[in-house]
Amino acid sequence: MSVHHTQSVILTGDRITGPLHLGHYTGSLQQRVRLQHSAVQYILMADMQGLTDNGAQPEKVNRYFYDVAADYLAAGIDPAHSVICLQSALPALAELTLLYLNLVTVSRLERNPTVKQEIIQKQFSRTLPAGFLIYPVSQAADITAFKADLVPVGEDQLPMIEQTNEIVSKINHVTGQELLVHCRAEVGKTGRLPGIDGNGKMSKSLGNAINLSVSADDLTRAVNAMFTDPQHLRVSDPGRIEGNVVFAYLDAFHPDTALVAEMKARYQAGGLGDRECKSVLNECLQALLAPIREERARLMADKSYLLSVIRRGTEKAREVTQQTLDQVKRGMGLLIF
Ligand code: ATP
Ligand code: MG
Repeated sequence: MSVHHTQSVILTGDRITGPLHLGHYTGSLQQRVRLQHSAVQYILMADMQGLTDNGAQPEKVNRYFYDVAADYLAAGIDPAHSVICLQSALPALAELTLLYLNLVTVSRLERNPTVKQEIIQKQFSRTLPAGFLIYPVSQAADITAFKADLVPVGEDQLPMIEQTNEIVSKINHVTGQELLVHCRAEVGKTGRLPGIDGNGKMSKSLGNAINLSVSADDLTRAVNAMFTDPQHLRVSDPGRIEGNVVFAYLDAFHPDTALVAEMKARYQAGGLGDRECKSVLNECLQALLAPIREERARLMADKSYLLSVIRRGTEKAREVTQQTLDQVKRGMGLLIF
């Protein structure tokens, strides 16, 4: 048994491309809230990464700064335990990205399955921004700059962690030192929450999300619009659970797993209607989101407080990331002025 226990360092973050949604909550936020007490946790507001597919409309990113900051705090991120910082205000991250790019091939970038899928979804072909193709490298810079060993993420991010670890090995090999730290992903119980339409994962940019800030009425509407089993026409018909969004959400959010198991059995056997399932889900999501909505509204009314929290976090992060950049530069034989 090891007597020497070192604290984990966590880096996570979100693109600032919209308010946070239930996918973030179950995929990453819940774990961050839990882990913030036992680890050193940095949370990156990734505005630069948000720009990689919004370069021509930067306002699509900038307008959500306060929303995302308020979402964090309302969901339970405590600035006394987590450092929240702004990517564009940390120049060391951009410099590390440039250094790492020299150790990554274009074909490796083109093989990243998540990026491949996003390129199709976003209908980029000849219009693919170079910055978008390389965003996994900038994520590697983010993770390694903080020397993070633990990254709580959704399933879509696993290829990024793999690519990050390849870069860590390369830098350590080139510099002949154990400079950078390998990291592991921590995927929550729900690694990939589907969108309400059942097409792919819930995403800010796909218009299939339920935001944490949703109004009670809009939440009910979204639940009622959820994709279920199109073959399940009468209550007495047997229904399918697979691909049924309502059951995916009940699994992710309903605290009573025995009740959900029983509902699944009844649904599959025939005799449980979509309307009843949706009403159980609606009640559970309303209870989850009401306190978050209220706290969020309070925070949005005090933007100067939000700004001061992020500014303080960014100052802390600047020191840590600059230190890593200097180490990597020195390791690669560059002069430090
Ligand atoms: P965008 O559409 O702009 O890419 P997004 O909704 O995918 O936005 P990101 O900022 O890319 O959100 O993701 C932030 C974090 O939340 C990542 O760790 C990601 O894995 C996680 N996450 C996002 N969507 C989901 C989801 N539907 N299920 C589980 N985790 C998710
Ligand atoms: Mg994404």
